[in-house]
Amino acid sequence: MKITEIKAEKIKLELKEPLKVAFGVVPYSENILVKIETDEGLAGYGEGAPLPFVTGENIDSAAAALQMFQKVLTGMDVMDLEGIHSLMDRTIAGNTSVKCAVDLALYDIRGKMCGQPVYKILGGSDGRVTNDITIGIGKPEDMAKKAKERVEKDGYRVLKIKTGISVEEDIGALTKIREAVGPDIRLRVDANQGYTVCTAQKALKAFTALGVESAEQCLPAQDMEGAAFLRRKAPDIALMLDESIHSPKDAARAARLEAADIFNIKLMKCGGLYPAMKINAIGEAWGIGCMVGCMIESKLSITAGLSLAAAMKNIADADCDSFMDCKGAENMYRGGFTHEGDRFLLNDAPGFGLDIDF
Ligand SMILES: [Mg+2]
Repeated sequence: MKITEIKAEKIKLELKEPLKVAFGVVPYSENILVKIETDEGLAGYGEGAPLPFVTGENIDSAAAALQMFQKVLTGMDVMDLEGIHSLMDRTIAGNTSVKCAVDLALYDIRGKMCGQPVYKILGGSDGRVTNDITIGIGKPEDMAKKAKERVEKDGYRVLKIKTGISVEEDIGALTKIREAVGPDIRLRVDANQGYTVCTAQKALKAFTALGVESAEQCLPAQDMEGAAFLRRKAPDIALMLDESIHSPKDAARAARLEAADIFNIKLMKCGGLYPAMKINAIGEAWGIGCMVGCMIESKLSITAGLSLAAAMKNIADADCDSFMDCKGAENMYRGGFTHEGDRFLLNDAPGFGLDIDF
């Protein structure tokens, strides 16, 4: 089955309220949707969510990169994922969210060819995933109020708390959140590169005492040696790397340096499900667990992230919650998955099983 045409459409996902994280405030995301058509009439859909300070792309560069792919990928066999990824990498470096959009559309087609959902195409047998929910940076008392609401009203048992601007306020917020939600709710923090080695050690000591299970990306993305140093200094809390891990090669380097307990795999950083499976395999082989995270994404790529989390034993956690914070995103497309509280269930329709057409 050959690729005959690649079409693109832009969508704008506006957050219900801007998300404040250590590197700034995110009010919306402009994403690229890709449709790949084939000579046998099947079509697949994928999504790219460019985030300038993480992937080095924006919506305009994403559209330009896709034009380059449209020229070179037409005529290629849809099953040739290795060849298509290799050709995309030789055509343009980086641009991982656009590569992800192409990759996801190809997995959607694979599923439709086999009459199976993507989580089964990836090797899984059970479409259930427990998802977490994210609380952005705010006043500590407001964060605690939100956390309590998410637990009591929305049924979440795992909270991811954004930190990394002020270590004192972070410790204050986590103290109030722990008081508000009680001892049994799992808490994780994500500093988004906001700490130094010194402030991170102070924060990690306090977070450990509050029963926080993991801390994500304490230091700047490039400082993997620093991450390894911190991990030796704070053995009682799991340290996760996110912005440090884009490619399988990054994962291998972090593993060799013993710089992480957990990798946060994002399809937009690595270029889709195919490279994501390689990162997970490296993690599994080195005893490093994985989580699937997300950018600001619609249900399309969120379904892909959840499919990966559902399929792989080494991926114990999912942080695929961003669509819920976007205006209208819950009902933008029918299908993909359903959820009740934090229990998500992928549907068994072929491919990603979403009702999209353009
Ligand atoms: Mg993160």
